[in-house]
Amino acid sequence: MAEIKEFKAESKRLLDMMIHSIYTHKEIFLRELISNASDAIDKYYLYALQNGQTPADLGIRIDLDETNRTLTISDNGIGMDEEELEDNLGTIAKSGSSAFKEEMKKKEEAENKEIDIIGQFGVGFYSAFMVADEVTVLSRKAGSEQAYCWKSDGINGYTLEPAEKEGRGTTIILKLKADDDMESYSEYLNSYMISDLVKKYSDYIRYPISMDVETQ
Ligand code: ADP
Ligand code: MG
Repeated sequence: MAEIKEFKAESKRLLDMMIHSIYTHKEIFLRELISNASDAIDKYYLYALQNGQTPADLGIRIDLDETNRTLTISDNGIGMDEEELEDNLGTIAKSGSSAFKEEMKKKEEAENKEIDIIGQFGVGFYSAFMVADEVTVLSRKAGSEQAYCWKSDGINGYTLEPAEKEGRGTTIILKLKADDDMESYSEYLNSYMISDLVKKYSDYIRYPISMDVETQ
């Protein structure tokens, strides 16, 4: 078993908010993860040009697995090494997320706990924990043979271990929460629902987003 590392205090607070979010537009997690995938492909594009390579077949993939209740988003972008996984996902220091945190603080100070601001900000990677109770990030940085696996339930911290992955880029596996009286998370396993969300929120993404859709 890998050692469980603790999140930094400020990340814990944001994670706690994401996990217990009563926000009705939880679906924006998909926009956030697709936008990160797209950013990563942009970075790879530059990297490739700078290294005399021709970037080809760039894209994002979504896979749904009803049996295992997983939604997986894969990109062949720049990827992350061990240190980047630690820094980028273990700590909240990033643009969107910190602006969000600031705004939340102001709201709380104003005794107004409404979380309608979630949608306005890029709330980032941690929004995955609004719909998933376990998130696995498998990543391999461009130019490296070694991949790493980051995994977290968003509560107890995270593990980070060497892993194997074919090809560069990042694969994010969301183990969706169980449905309850308030919320159906199973809808994120429905390919029609997902393609609607992609059209709604990620229409501007300039890389192809592919998904298998079952036909009758
Ligand atoms: P932001 O996108 O505003 O920087 P996020 O919380 O969405 O904040 O993401 C945090 C960081 O994690 C990103 O800045 C990036 O460095 C890294 N990251 C997230 N997803 C990916 C990905 N799919 N590929 C590579 N790096 C990623
Ligand atoms: Mg982001």
